[in-house]
Amino acid sequence: MDGTAQGAQDLVTSRDAQYIGGKWRPAAGGGRIDVVDPVTEKVIGQVPAGTAEDVDEAVRAARAALPGWAATPPAERGAILGAVRDLMAARREEIAATVAAELGAPPAFAAAVHTDMPTAVMGGFAALAAGHAFEEQVGNSRVFQEPVGVVGAITPWNYPLHQVVAKAAPALAAGCTVVLKPAEDTPLVAQLFAAILDEAGLPAGVFNLVTGLGPVAGQALAEHPGVDMVSFTGSTAVGRQIGATAGAAVKRVALELGGKSANVILPGADLARAVNVGIANVFANSGQTCSAWTRILVDSARYDEAVEAATAAAAKYVPGERLGPVVNAKQRERVRGYIRRGTAEGARIVVGGTDAPDGLETGYYVRPTVFADVDPGMTIAQEEIFGPVVALIRYEDEDDALRIANGTVYGLAGAVWGADEAEAVAFARRMDTGQVDINGGRFNPLAPFGGYKQSGVGRELGAHGLAEYLQTKSLQF
Ligand code: NAD
Repeated sequence: MDGTAQGAQDLVTSRDAQYIGGKWRPAAGGGRIDVVDPVTEKVIGQVPAGTAEDVDEAVRAARAALPGWAATPPAERGAILGAVRDLMAARREEIAATVAAELGAPPAFAAAVHTDMPTAVMGGFAALAAGHAFEEQVGNSRVFQEPVGVVGAITPWNYPLHQVVAKAAPALAAGCTVVLKPAEDTPLVAQLFAAILDEAGLPAGVFNLVTGLGPVAGQALAEHPGVDMVSFTGSTAVGRQIGATAGAAVKRVALELGGKSANVILPGADLARAVNVGIANVFANSGQTCSAWTRILVDSARYDEAVEAATAAAAKYVPGERLGPVVNAKQRERVRGYIRRGTAEGARIVVGGTDAPDGLETGYYVRPTVFADVDPGMTIAQEEIFGPVVALIRYEDEDDALRIANGTVYGLAGAVWGADEAEAVAFARRMDTGQVDINGGRFNPLAPFGGYKQSGVGRELGAHGLAEYLQTKSLQF
């Protein structure tokens, strides 16, 4: 049943099965999804295209396992998650090779970010499960935090393991059971994760995996009456649909959606550093980061200097080396479409463009592209591109900068740089967005992550992420 790709990718395994009720089982239907390496454009594996029948079996398995897992003492749940963390660390090379193969991530980035970040997040939730106060006394009431129930998790391809762990780890820590439908482009690392959970001794049915297409398996999961909560990360279009379905069923929903985050460089800030870090933030993962600071806002007086700095910084992202391809041909077309649209609407390309990068006829590469003279109302300044494209926007004063920063439907992340930290913080507090990095503040895997406005509903990571999967009950004495 197992197939293993040959050669340099011999660590990459695909399974022609669904992981349901603690076993790898043949899928109900005969459909298959090809998994393609975006660097070579070659098929590296096949997974089942799951159907509503697979989803139904998985939800039944998750329901059957729920009472036992919910009643397992949190410290024991935490111990299993700790074992999962250790296995993820032990299988670092395999995880990194898998993400490199199915997403096209450069190997160093696949290891340092796509593998180590979710491993750290898993460790964080192992500790939280053990240490969280699931009970508190409020006056004459004892208040219990209980698991929400069966969680249907639907994840995208851009950080394929991180997105899975950011849902599965808190759900399992809370005492919920899970059915995961991972993105069709990146199901292999999800299968590897299921194998790791199995090896760690997670009881049968507590975690189940159904691979398949979004409108088939994903929709069946979102609509299933046996699912108590849907946790979705992906596009705003699909999120809106899932929110409507969950709302109609009066079921809890968490949505992590798109973004168009602003990197605000205040007058007096260290411009060179702000631009360098900003370009790295956008071009990492080939621009396929929901929280990427894709709009750089600079005051008029230093605008030209910023354009020069961005051009120099972008040159370091050589496609095929530091910059990987985007995930598939459709995504490449989408990104190139936005680049054409930017030019058509009057923005100026200072580096990059729609041509294939030199010497790279194979692979879904897009040239790292910097646009100058971008008006805040242009399509490339409003819509999420999800590729290595950044827009430099000029502002006149702080109020103008704030108006531009807040002037999209999104509000996921952002950055503020200022000579004076208090001034940067004051600006950040006025931004309609869920996370802001001040003067290059580092990513914190325990800080709540999630969006204002159309970037989503709910928070992931840390104690706030755990709370998403808990509901409260009060007993009065
Ligand atoms: P997508 O919405 O097309 O797909 C995401 C997941 O939903 C996939 O598993 C897909 O199979 C499934 N899906 C698709 N149609 C469905 C349907 N009708 N019913 C149920 N499930 C369905 O998004 P994508 O193209 O895979 O991912 C890119 C998007 O995800 C970007 O917009 C990005 O900003 C967003 N994203 C957000 C975050 C965040 O945390 N806010 C993180 C990563 C990605």
